[in-house]
Amino acid sequence: MIGKIFKLTFALFGAGITYFIYQLAFKVPQIVETIYSRGIYPFFTKTIGHLTSSLPFSLAEVLFYLFLLSILFFIGYIISAFFKPRGEKLIYIGKRVLSFFSLLCSLYTVFVLFWGLNYARLPLAESMGLSVQSGYSVADLQNLCYDLIDECNDLRNQVQEDEQGVYQLSYTRQAIMETMGDIYKTYAPDWMNVSTHCVVKGVATPNLLSYFETCGIYSPFTFEPNINMQMPDLYFASTVAHEYAHLQGFAREDEANFISWYVLSQCEEPDLAYSANLNALHYALNALYQAAPQLYSETANLLCEASKRDLNSYSEYWETFDTPISELGDKIYDSYLESNGINEGVQSYGRMLDLMLAFCQKN
Ligand SMILES: [Zn+2]
Repeated sequence: MIGKIFKLTFALFGAGITYFIYQLAFKVPQIVETIYSRGIYPFFTKTIGHLTSSLPFSLAEVLFYLFLLSILFFIGYIISAFFKPRGEKLIYIGKRVLSFFSLLCSLYTVFVLFWGLNYARLPLAESMGLSVQSGYSVADLQNLCYDLIDECNDLRNQVQEDEQGVYQLSYTRQAIMETMGDIYKTYAPDWMNVSTHCVVKGVATPNLLSYFETCGIYSPFTFEPNINMQMPDLYFASTVAHEYAHLQGFAREDEANFISWYVLSQCEEPDLAYSANLNALHYALNALYQAAPQLYSETANLLCEASKRDLNSYSEYWETFDTPISELGDKIYDSYLESNGINEGVQSYGRMLDLMLAFCQKN
C-alpha cells in the first residue's frame, strides 16, 4: 500500500515538475537549443533510437496497441471496484482511478523529456540566419508559385507514371525509407546538426494512419519515424523526409515541412525532388488562393496536365477516408499542437511558406 502511494506521488510530482520545466523552457529558447536540442536529445536518438532501429518492426505501433489494451484493462479494473463491499468501494475506485492517472502522468513526463522540449528550441529561421517578415506580398507568393511550377513541370517529365497516367515511384518504398538517412547526410547543412542515422519504419496495420488522414507520425517514445504504407506514391518521399526531420529534433510542423523540401529539392533524384516541390507548391497555391483568389486559377493553370492528374488522384484517395474518425483525429492533433505552444494548430503548416520565401529571397 505504502509502495503504491509512493509510486503515485512520484508520478504526479514528476509530471508537475516536468510541466514547470516545460513552461520555463519556452522562455529560454537559446538554452534549450544548445543544451537540449543539440546535446541531450541527440544522445537519446543515438542510444535508445539506435536500439529501436535494430527492430524489424515499429515498436511504436506495438506500444500503441498495448496502450489501447491498458485503457481497456483500466476501464474493467475500475468497473470491478464497484463490486467491492460497501465500506471499501470508494477507496478501491479512487485507488484505481489514481493508478490510471499516474500512468498518464508518467507518459507525459517521458514525452516532454524525450521530445517535447524541442518545441521550445530556437525558431529554425534564427538558426539559419533568415529574417522572416511578418507578411510577404502577394507578388512574392505568386513568384514562389511560378518557380515551383517550373520545377514541377520539368521534373514531371523525368518520372514514371502508371497506366492511368498518374505518378508512380521508380523505387520501392522500402528503398526510399532506407536511403533517407544518407540523403540527409549528403544534403543537410550544418545548422541542421544531423547526427543520427535511424531507420524509418512502415506501419504494418493496413490503413491505420489513413483512417486518421495521416501520412506519417513520429514516435517520441521510441524515436521512430513511422510512415503510412498505403498512402499514394506522390508525397511518400516528402513524408519520409518530413518525419526524418522530426527525428532530428525539429518538432514544429512548418519547420519539418521546410526541411523536407530543402533537403529533397536539392537531390538530383527526380522522384524525390518532384515529391518535395509539388508538396511545397500545394501549400503555396493554397496560400495564394486565400490571399488573392483571382490570381489562383491563372497561376495553377500553368501546372502541367500530368501533375494535375497526380493531384486529383491524390485528393480522390483521401476523400475515401473523409470520415468522422479522421475529423476526430484532426481535432486531437490540433489540441496536441496547441498544448505544445503551436497556437495556430494545424494551420501552422502554412508557415513553411514564410521560411521558403525568406530562404528564396536570401539566395
Ligand atoms: Zn509532422
